[in-house]
Amino acid sequence: MSAVIPIHRDDALGCGNAPVLSEKGQREVFCGLTGIIWLHRKIQDAFFLVVGSRTCAHLIQSAAGVMIFAEPRFGTAIIDERDLAGIADANDELDRVVSELLARRQDIKLLFLVGSCPSEVIKLDLSRAAERLSRQHLPRTRVLSYSGSGIETTFTQGEDACLAAMVPTLPPRADSGKHLLIVGTLADVVEDQLGALLRKMGIERFDFFPPRKSTNLPAIGPETVCLLAQPFLADTAKQLEARGVQRLIAAFPLGAEGTTHWLKVAAKAFGVDDRRFDEVTQAPRQRAQQSVARHQAQLKGKSITFLPDSQLEIPLARFVYHELQMNLLEVGTPYLHRQIMAPELAQLPISTRLSEGQSLELQLDRCETDQPDLIVCGLGLANPLEARGFTTKWSIELVFTPIQGYEQAGDLAGLFSRPLLRKQKLVA
Ligand code: SF4
Repeated sequence: MSAVIPIHRDDALGCGNAPVLSEKGQREVFCGLTGIIWLHRKIQDAFFLVVGSRTCAHLIQSAAGVMIFAEPRFGTAIIDERDLAGIADANDELDRVVSELLARRQDIKLLFLVGSCPSEVIKLDLSRAAERLSRQHLPRTRVLSYSGSGIETTFTQGEDACLAAMVPTLPPRADSGKHLLIVGTLADVVEDQLGALLRKMGIERFDFFPPRKSTNLPAIGPETVCLLAQPFLADTAKQLEARGVQRLIAAFPLGAEGTTHWLKVAAKAFGVDDRRFDEVTQAPRQRAQQSVARHQAQLKGKSITFLPDSQLEIPLARFVYHELQMNLLEVGTPYLHRQIMAPELAQLPISTRLSEGQSLELQLDRCETDQPDLIVCGLGLANPLEARGFTTKWSIELVFTPIQGYEQAGDLAGLFSRPLLRKQKLVA
């Protein structure tokens, strides 16, 4: 790992060693199956077969909203009562479903068996099933497995589990020379913009992971360094490090400052000099600052609480505090990875109340006491909170919307200002 380069130096900042309110109780978070919604859009020749119940099928279909199209790239192999009662051999059923699916869909090059609560309850060993099915269907289709079960994962952890399952399949690099791996699903448009900036700085050898095509897996080697583009990828990072990849430590590319820090860390690792870095980043950085500034009148001085949901909470808190001048009341996260979050924690004001995990009633009581102007929360909490008079933002929107990079900084700020503007109009 590399050393942490600070964004701002200020004695009033720094939550790196701050105490954290750790809570265990009722949670209000999606399970890891949700990640299929953005992962299936990214890896265009992959199929996600949830081995689960009708509840799981409903979850991904409703989370996918209107995106049910003729040839979807996700589906559910339903575990029914016969499987649960142990009457039918779930492995035989699974083999049959997979064979039928692959016979019908020649375009599937990578098939994920995605575990769920029911598959866990009946102890269906999906990693062995994936090995067996891979042997059967390779080279045309590789079969991998990961868990998206609500017992094991929350919301964005599904992506972590998926990417971690792919790491062992990344081929070794044959050539020498430093190489950058950018880890985490980003919208194509964001990838293109960040890639263009890296190239302008003279960094040519980089790949995004996951790739758009599973047949185009990035090769990694001892000279590969990686930069996380999403904060919820602790297991993937660990797997990459186990394969000898060095992880660079950066803030996440959210807002003008986060994007600059993220790019700067890459630039330093590749020996790009400061002048060139400034030449390349100055114009887009200014554009980002200007588009964020348009939302400041609405948000400056307003207070905000983040309830734990997507694991994006800490980088988002850093963004709204520094670039929109909002007041942080509570920043909750389902899991706190201090190492991954180090540059972000260093930028939060010392007074920030950090919480990890959730005990719903206690957290809602704190919201009542704090009376934040805006609460960022999961979908299930938004309506009850709105009914109590709070203004809310669904955190899932911050995961589904392209918000990374300079050109998206204004859109990111807009996601915070819009609910307050709407409230103002309703009240007026
Ligand atoms: Fe519900 Fe578990 Fe299925 Fe998720 S995996 S939809 S939590 S049953």
